[in-house]
Amino acid sequence: MHVATELDTGLTLHGYIDRVDEAPTGELRIVDYKTGKSPGPLFEAKAMFQMKFYALVVWRTRGVIPRMLQLVYLGNAEMLRYEPDEQDLLATERKVRALWDAITRANESGDWRPHRSALCGWCDHKALCPAWGGTPPPLPQSRPADLTGAAGQTETVPLPTLARSSPPALRVTPRCDPAWRDLRRGRHHRSRGGGLGGQHLSGCRGGT
Ligand code: SF4
Repeated sequence: MHVATELDTGLTLHGYIDRVDEAPTGELRIVDYKTGKSPGPLFEAKAMFQMKFYALVVWRTRGVIPRMLQLVYLGNAEMLRYEPDEQDLLATERKVRALWDAITRANESGDWRPHRSALCGWCDHKALCPAWGGTPPPLPQSRPADLTGAAGQTETVPLPTLARSSPPALRVTPRCDPAWRDLRRGRHHRSRGGGLGGQHLSGCRGGT
């Protein structure tokens, strides 16, 4: 599902959600599938930021805070779940605004800071990257008009310490979760009454 909304600053947020489940009661569950393995506990909040971003956009467009955010890791058969509240999504919005403000400042100053990480090994620009002793080509003289135009409208806010303040996501092992059984039923026996309905969401906590 493509979702999009515009903040009061004029900044447009949009994304593509893998799956949105709607219970008969109107409750929403946002689901995203990852081919890799689930992150360690220290990186759960970072992984969940994408889901909170989706939840924020859904909240702004439909007026409903999704009941559950669910990341499904196919690489090791684990799921991460999180039940967001309004404060979560307001913090996510502040963080998005702050990120956009940082991008705007970098665009105005031409000071784009590289950030070394494990992903550098896959980066096509490593040979040109200052973080690895390279020299990047000069920046183009012209700047995107919509980016510079939005600069005066963004507000500067400190980056929230979202990763530290958020409660940990719920880690679910597949053997206790009907949704996962249903997902894998092509290779395993079909379980009765499994399904993906919202009424099953809190049925098993044994895998936390
Ligand atoms: S090599 Fe440089 S540009 Fe590429 S990901 Fe790493 S820090 Fe970023």
